[in-house]
Amino acid sequence: MQRVAVLGATGSIGTSALDVIARHPQTMRASVLAAGSNVDGLLALCRAHAPAHAVIADTRHYPALRDGLQAAGLATEAHAGGPALDALVAGDACDSVVAAIVGAAGLSSTLSAARSGKRLLLANKESLVLAGDLLMQAAHRSGAHIIPIDSEHNAIFQCLADGSPPARITLTASGGPFRGWTRAQLANVTPAQAVAHPKWSMGPKISVDSASLMNKGLEVIEAHHLFALPGDRIGVLVHPQSLVHSLVDFIDGSTLAQLGMPDMRTALAVGLGWPQRITSGVGLLDLLAQGGRLEFEAPDSAAFPCLGLAYAALAAGACAPAALNAANEEAVSAFLQGRIGFLGIPDTVSAVLDAMPTQPADSIDALLDADARARAQAQAHLGKVST
Ligand code: NAD
Ligand code: MG
Repeated sequence: MQRVAVLGATGSIGTSALDVIARHPQTMRASVLAAGSNVDGLLALCRAHAPAHAVIADTRHYPALRDGLQAAGLATEAHAGGPALDALVAGDACDSVVAAIVGAAGLSSTLSAARSGKRLLLANKESLVLAGDLLMQAAHRSGAHIIPIDSEHNAIFQCLADGSPPARITLTASGGPFRGWTRAQLANVTPAQAVAHPKWSMGPKISVDSASLMNKGLEVIEAHHLFALPGDRIGVLVHPQSLVHSLVDFIDGSTLAQLGMPDMRTALAVGLGWPQRITSGVGLLDLLAQGGRLEFEAPDSAAFPCLGLAYAALAAGACAPAALNAANEEAVSAFLQGRIGFLGIPDTVSAVLDAMPTQPADSIDALLDADARARAQAQAHLGKVST
């Protein structure tokens, strides 16, 4: 029986993971469920999945979690706070960890899973952007098997299954809700427009990142760490149908791609079942029913500067990717709150990258320090530009 910890259980990926796990009651079960502050959502999931442990990150909600579990007559043990979550992830309550907390807030628990040798189903791309070298080293040392859950990286993982090294990889991007729009048209878009993704149903932060193409930028850095490739061997192609999830080129001229419906349960089933294939609830791909066309175009780097900023941060190395990620999280949050316009996101990230001194990134403390300083810089910039 595979015991799975689902971190970010109340979110989009967490819910999809629980859907796949529930389809295989003979072989796996959710043993730890964790959420940020949505205690009602977490309690509902506990009633449905009866995990051994439930963790709410925001400690103020601990009494509500404990009392809610008791009122439901569940044997689930209540916990609160980041350190409790890290300990549960590292301990013997789980064999596999679905790391699906959003943002840098997921770093500590993701690292805990990597250090303790767990199977790590990694959706929390921000932790790789922030601390990719240290995370990969930790997994290497402990023997933790990382299976990428981001659909593009999961596609590449599947294409690399025979062990041949890739010559180049190409990440596909849907282009988001504003594909084809000019910079001038982007100036007045609303948060509601930005989160209305045409192909994928996702949480608000990654939806805005998809609209700005920062998501693809973060994914380039993620791919660099997962597949040990330099930035100039990682390409991006806009593919509006979102059916080809990425491509891998090999030295003999072969290109392998993975295709499927845009539903994250496929990637999660790959992670939960690997090396076996298991059912996910996702239907088989019918290319004709999907319109019979697969189109590709170059990303518009003038209208969507975030992708270029991410490539630049990857090339600069050291603390630059951590600063990029932190500035982006602050800017996206300000955009979702209506404090800045959509173009304020790349402007803020660019200003923070320009202002940050480069310093080595050889420890978690140095990276967390860079993260904190970039957030302060971003807030100072946002204070100047917000209306
Ligand atoms: P979401 O906003 O739907 O869910 C986020 C989850 O994280 C929630 O359960 C929330 O309670 C939890 N959380 C937030 N802050 C926390 C904290 N401080 N401590 C503990 N838990 C906390 O987000 P999502 O769309 O599910 O994305 C999750 C991660 O997966 C992100 O890193 C995202 O980039 C990545 N990802 C998502 C998708 C997708 O299709 N949704 C695809 C690829 C990658
Ligand atoms: Mg992706």
